[in-house]
Amino acid sequence: MVSKVLIANRGEIALRVIRACREMGIASVAVHSTADDNAMHVRLADESVCIGPPAATDSYLSIAAIISACEITGADAVHPGYGFLSENAKFADILAAHNITFIGPKAEHIRIMGDKIAAKARAIELGIPVVPGSDGEVKTAAEAAKIGADMGYPVLVKAASGGGGRGMKLAMTEADMETAFSTARHEAKTAFGDDAVYIEKYLTTPRHIEIQVVCDAHGNAVHLGERDCSLQRRHQKVLEEAPSSVLDEKSRAAIGKIVTDAMQGMNYLGVGTIEFLFENGEFYFIEMNTRLQVEHPITEMITGVDLVREQIRIASGERLSFTQDDIVLSGHAIECRINAENPETFVPSPGTITAYHAPAGLGVRMDSAVYAGYPIPPYYDSLIGKLIIYGDDRQSCIMRLKRALREFVIDGVDTTLPLFARLVEEEDFNTANYDIHWLENYLGMKD
Ligand code: ADP
Repeated sequence: MVSKVLIANRGEIALRVIRACREMGIASVAVHSTADDNAMHVRLADESVCIGPPAATDSYLSIAAIISACEITGADAVHPGYGFLSENAKFADILAAHNITFIGPKAEHIRIMGDKIAAKARAIELGIPVVPGSDGEVKTAAEAAKIGADMGYPVLVKAASGGGGRGMKLAMTEADMETAFSTARHEAKTAFGDDAVYIEKYLTTPRHIEIQVVCDAHGNAVHLGERDCSLQRRHQKVLEEAPSSVLDEKSRAAIGKIVTDAMQGMNYLGVGTIEFLFENGEFYFIEMNTRLQVEHPITEMITGVDLVREQIRIASGERLSFTQDDIVLSGHAIECRINAENPETFVPSPGTITAYHAPAGLGVRMDSAVYAGYPIPPYYDSLIGKLIIYGDDRQSCIMRLKRALREFVIDGVDTTLPLFARLVEEEDFNTANYDIHWLENYLGMKD
């Protein structure tokens, strides 16, 4: 087993990893920028190393600084969390060259799945159903127009290197195509340094349903059911729940088998999430995330599996601690992403948290790294915590979520808590009657 894990991340996910390490008797090392001197992950890890100035490019994204921190502390493994370097194949290669274990998948799989065009081609080879679309990259506006006409509008022009909900442009009709194509390419180049784009049929009423998989180095692949992440704003997840109200045991088992067979087919290692759109009973692959997801706790709540512990065990060469038959989904879990943002305009609201009281009690889990007096730095993501609720069924989970939201106090900065307080009263939410466009319609947003 690895003996000392350096966490190349900050915030709640750094704490999540420190907690797993401590429960496994493994030492932990925090790295931090000068803006995070007072951060909880620095206080809670066994050791900490300052790796640079506030800008992430000079600290949390600096491979050289992180390798140096490993050398200084003698860490023999790195957990990348999510974001930052978690899907950087070069980082995984460099760690390997330094004999440091990367707690994540093989570099080649990060590389393939990081390019959405390559990922889709691989998914097709592996027998995973995909969203109908172009055969790989689309290089000219004329080609795009031809595909649009053949496939039928609306279509989406997507960046091969896109992520975080960015790099997508919608063409409702042929008249929009030229602009959608050129702006998508331009934005892809500016945001990701790669102007490759492809085209997909735009699904009008799908759910976003993703399957969690976990694979060891001994050929075992197990799926842990799905998460429904349809409540989104600007293609980014806001609230997630597991299981999804629209899957039954048969369809869950069927897609689970397709996914685990595919993962075995590619010799995948570690945790991964295969993301699908689900419409009229059919699954359509959109992408695979080769890392731990923000919303992983809801899967932990309904399966009892500690995903970070499992990641560390797998990276150490151990076998999965369970088989597919051991996985029984029980109860219901919901996660609310609490951001330091205005709940109506969604403008980030950095500042100092003056009062903080998190809800607790049976079935309430709060993954956060903030505290009263904590100054939220303006340099990073606005996620300040995840409220994770478990209940015996969806109805009791929602009742518990309502009572937890009433207990929550965060003063000094704006947060998205009021949005969730509104949402839980909505009939469509209570009847699970929503697709990926529902929240934006509810918020009165246009794409
Ligand atoms: P990212 O990597 O930026 O998260 P994804 O490809 O995973 O991009 O898509 C994010 C979200 O964008 C999806 O959950 C869905 O809401 C929307 N989306 C992506 N592809 C399509 C499509 N073909 N039709 C409709 N919506 C889509």
